[in-house]
Amino acid sequence: MRHPLPETGVGWPQLRSQMLEYAQGDVRWRDGKTAVYVFNAGAQVEQVQKEAYALFQSENGLGPAAFPSLKRMEEEVVGFGLGLLHGPEGANGAITSGGTDSITMAVKAARDFARKQKGVAGPLNIVLPRSAHPAFDKACALMEIEVRRTPLRDYLADPAVMAATADAATVMIVGSAPNFPYGLIDPIGALSDLAVERDLWLHVDACVGGYIAPFVRMNGGDIAPFDFELPGVRSLSADLHKYGYCAKGASTVFFRSAELMAFMTFDFRDWPGGRMVTPTLAGTRPGGAISAAWAVMNFLGVEGYRAKHALVTEARETIAAGVEALGFTVLGRPQLGILVFTRADVDCLALWAKLRERGWFTGVTTEPKSLHLMLSPVHAQVVGEYLADVAWALGEVGGSATKVEARYS
Ligand SMILES: *Cc1c(COP(=O)(O)O)cnc(C)c1O
Repeated sequence: MRHPLPETGVGWPQLRSQMLEYAQGDVRWRDGKTAVYVFNAGAQVEQVQKEAYALFQSENGLGPAAFPSLKRMEEEVVGFGLGLLHGPEGANGAITSGGTDSITMAVKAARDFARKQKGVAGPLNIVLPRSAHPAFDKACALMEIEVRRTPLRDYLADPAVMAATADAATVMIVGSAPNFPYGLIDPIGALSDLAVERDLWLHVDACVGGYIAPFVRMNGGDIAPFDFELPGVRSLSADLHKYGYCAKGASTVFFRSAELMAFMTFDFRDWPGGRMVTPTLAGTRPGGAISAAWAVMNFLGVEGYRAKHALVTEARETIAAGVEALGFTVLGRPQLGILVFTRADVDCLALWAKLRERGWFTGVTTEPKSLHLMLSPVHAQVVGEYLADVAWALGEVGGSATKVEARYS
């Protein structure tokens, strides 16, 4: 639909208030009422994101020779990630625009590796558990690769079924740490064994876990090996703009070796504009996303991340205990930032809608119908209010809620 561009420009103060007026209908994420889409590590981190982004918002990561600053910041951020995720000597990576970009580039690298290095001809496939993110389907749709999704076992990837599904044309197998729909870490150790035994490319999708799991482990969490520590892992995606608490538009993709990463790079010379080399899907790469990531990571440091993630753990444990007291079951054994819970005699999607009436905007999982929370540090402050509202909503939608309502209201 056409919308007329103003004939004469409008002043900034007026535009600013108009935008804030547009935002009136948005979710109240700063109040901690949103547990999807936004990762809220508090006002200080938001300020660092903003100022660091603004400092480099016109600069372009496409030109490392023009902007050695961005190249240096990217290398340092990639180095931080490799340090946290057991990158071996020679491992490397890049900053991308997001998890979808990271995953697409890993699939592209694995595909080119299969074609060029292993000589696989004809149709290709990738094997992934039903819970893996649709970004893999998008990448495979772009590259005409068949997606073979395998059934889950206790909400986790089933390595035996994946082994039976993979064949000589399989360019990649995938495990998630954790998967998004359940927030649970797949048995990456067993998938690594399978990858080593069959010489398969294992990608670990740690988009939502890569920058929280290492710190939860430092805080005493019993997290099984899931990263380059396992020999079968060839590539890994981890989003800076999720639990890295960086500004949006920033993820990382890592490879076990520079040789594997070389299959990601696109190098084109037959063009009157000259040679064009791009490591990731993007051409122009926003400098602000890189500088904000660099600044937030340095601002928080190990201690800062440990403290922020301790609040996420606290919120998750308190909510888990609270909803269990209300008769819900928590799916699996969540260890990171995502918590999913259900109750067989309650319509959880109706419950979700009821909670929206009180301003809560969270996610849902559909198999089984459940409430899905992706928690931030700020949620530690609102768990009591949330649990009271769950008890209220339960009373509204039915089930045996009336008995427990008194407990939280
Ligand atoms: C968020 C997410 C992605 C996709 O990342 P985007 O940044 O949204 O493109 C992929 N995998 C998992 C497990 C995720 O949580």
